Amino acid sequence: MNPQDPVFSFVRNELLLIAEGEALRLPRREELARHLVGPGLALGEIAERRYWAHAWPHAVLPAPDYQLHGLRALLGRLPSELWALAGRAYQLVEWERTHRFCGACGKTTRRHESGEFAMVCSGCGHTAYPRISPATITVITRGREILLARNARSANGFFACIAGFVEAGESLEDCVRREVREEVGLEVGPMRYFGSQPWPFPHQLMLGFIAEYAGGELKLQEDEIAEAGWFTADNLPPLPPKVSIARQLIDAALAELA
Ligand SMILES: [Zn+2]
Repeated sequence: MNPQDPVFSFVRNELLLIAEGEALRLPRREELARHLVGPGLALGEIAERRYWAHAWPHAVLPAPDYQLHGLRALLGRLPSELWALAGRAYQLVEWERTHRFCGACGKTTRRHESGEFAMVCSGCGHTAYPRISPATITVITRGREILLARNARSANGFFACIAGFVEAGESLEDCVRREVREEVGLEVGPMRYFGSQPWPFPHQLMLGFIAEYAGGELKLQEDEIAEAGWFTADNLPPLPPKVSIARQLIDAALAELA
């Protein structure tokens, strides 16, 4: 364990960073040493430097140049490799925090001896793994148009894709069809997988699809969708940032239709 190793430390869902002028950097283990409890979780290496994850054990910050930043706000501000590792760190710290007791018998848990990310019950041996929740995200195409929707709970005004969690017993394709039907009242035909993106808010794995419109008239689920419509490449509403899989799906669909 190197005292120079960078540490991702979280207060709830906010990351502890040190401000140096305009720039932000991760604290090193030696800078946090007297605050941290236990060895933390070894995350992986970037450029031969090992990164660690720790819960921050206090209510207060160690010094005035320490700041807390939400992961969402850091998207596009931290290098993408580092942001991805921050998401992994947050999910693991949060999983450990919420799995201190066994869900089967209620006794305390401890980390798996092998070092794998698992919590084992001291009483009955029940093992819990980090929670990952798959969700589909779909762009629907119709001729040269794509369907975009503005979420009722989103404050940023972006129009994006249709998304929702996979339910127990559902295939990804079932989930795409159900979410599209529920949220905008349409049916989709052939679809294909586009790619995926971990989305640590708090533990989604977004699985992207491009699906063809097959029928139906727009009918919005009002508590979910504030506004939706068909758009062409020369007539686009405000879109989410390029780092999001939503935007990557939209750009890919439009490029294919061009
Ligand atoms: Zn147990």
